[in-house]
Amino acid sequence: MAKINENYLKLPANYLFTEIARRVKNYQAENPDAEIIRLGIGDVTQPLPKVCIEAMTAAVAEMGDAKTFRGYGPEQGYEFLREKIAEWNYQKRGLNVSADEIFISDGSKCDCGNIQEIFSINSKIAIGDPVYPVYLDTNVMAGRTGNLVNGRFEGVVYLPCTAENNFNPAPPNEHVDLIYLCSPNNPTGTTLDKAALKNWVDYAQKNDAVILYDAAYAAYITEKNIPTSIYEIEGARNVAIEFRSFSKTAGFTGTRCGYVVIPENLTGKTSAGEKIPLKNLWLRRQTTKFNGTAYIVQRGAAAIYSDEGQAQIRQLIDYYMTNAKIIRAGLQAAGYEVFGGINAPYIWLKTNEPSWNFFDKLLTEYNIVGTPGAGFGPCGEGYLRLTAFGSRENTLKAMDRLKI
Ligand SMILES: *Cc1c(COP(=O)(O)O)cnc(C)c1O
Repeated sequence: MAKINENYLKLPANYLFTEIARRVKNYQAENPDAEIIRLGIGDVTQPLPKVCIEAMTAAVAEMGDAKTFRGYGPEQGYEFLREKIAEWNYQKRGLNVSADEIFISDGSKCDCGNIQEIFSINSKIAIGDPVYPVYLDTNVMAGRTGNLVNGRFEGVVYLPCTAENNFNPAPPNEHVDLIYLCSPNNPTGTTLDKAALKNWVDYAQKNDAVILYDAAYAAYITEKNIPTSIYEIEGARNVAIEFRSFSKTAGFTGTRCGYVVIPENLTGKTSAGEKIPLKNLWLRRQTTKFNGTAYIVQRGAAAIYSDEGQAQIRQLIDYYMTNAKIIRAGLQAAGYEVFGGINAPYIWLKTNEPSWNFFDKLLTEYNIVGTPGAGFGPCGEGYLRLTAFGSRENTLKAMDRLKI
């Protein structure tokens, strides 16, 4: 019989959202008339921007004509999209990122999960707590950690992110090779400012470490002093890889498109000490294991990079961020301490009791579904995440229910 990769068995079986779904289903079965509002899962609800639909419709027509039909595309992504990303997201903001440093993918989850493959199995990783589960779980699967002991994997350097440190973890006193940072953060909805990021870039430079910077929610930043890209920090091009996605920016969660930025001069080293550009390794990985994102989807993604496209995604994001404001205000009025929701579609509220207890209370007393913070890591205990991705109507209704 074939032997399995036993690292998979180190992962806890009970998937967070499966457990939430189970509790909601049970409650609904016992209370068939309860009108449950789901502010739990981080998926968007509003339709794609018109510019994207038009571009994808035109691309479908191209696929139906032998003269314009496309087969396999470039593994790195079409130049028309990479050029637009470089121009609109970086160069227009004074940041030095070129099209050939961008790699298009079918979403950021895969990129955040796959990137660890290009690093040594012996790399020491530092990871936030609470955290988007993908960073940690993929390293567990790869065998880069020990076993789970008291909610933490052995061998991993955890970075507690709590109200006490303003969700702004300091770099560790020990050496690590890889650092996962996510800002604006899922699940806490908080951000790292320039000073905090500069601290991390300095640490990475001193330790020859690489920062894996997840900026999936960059488009949700409203405060002027919060960096939208790690490359706003001097020296970051030598130490950081950035991940972005069209999922939350343009409603592409079901359409699938994301990208990775790996600067030309960013290197890792062999055990013999030879410097190797990380970009070359990623290109090799992608050309071997990935055959590109659909042409139609890349055309849809490229459509957001025009004045009209930007106005349409702005409207979409404003819709969700107005929900975020409503949730923040509603919770505060009901006496809760809340974080996030200003530069991110997530509101992280202090539960003052175990987060699963609070989850049950919210479900049974108010018929509102959130996500227990403990599901994102031990330091998420005592918090609960609500998302602003619901409809306006449901968001208002949910906050109305919390009124005393
Ligand atoms: C939603 C999300 C992503 C993007 O995922 P896709 O695979 O592009 O849909 C990446 N990182 C975080 C933290 C997210 O919440």
